[in-house]
Amino acid sequence: MPQHAPNKRVCRDCDGFATAAITTGTRHTDGTRATLRVSCPACKGTGRTALAGVVRAGR
Ligand SMILES: [Zn+2]
Repeated sequence: MPQHAPNKRVCRDCDGFATAAITTGTRHTDGTRATLRVSCPACKGTGRTALAGVVRAGR
């Protein structure tokens, strides 16, 4: 039985992209775009699944 990525526990919620930058459309006074950084609630921005407290339902 081949194991797929045995040592990588990438968060299934965000697929490793834990932090997403969302452009709000507004700009700061210095001209840069204001972005919102949203961290994945499942892995809290780490991109990996937490080892403790993970319960897989089904399968
Ligand atoms: Zn995640």
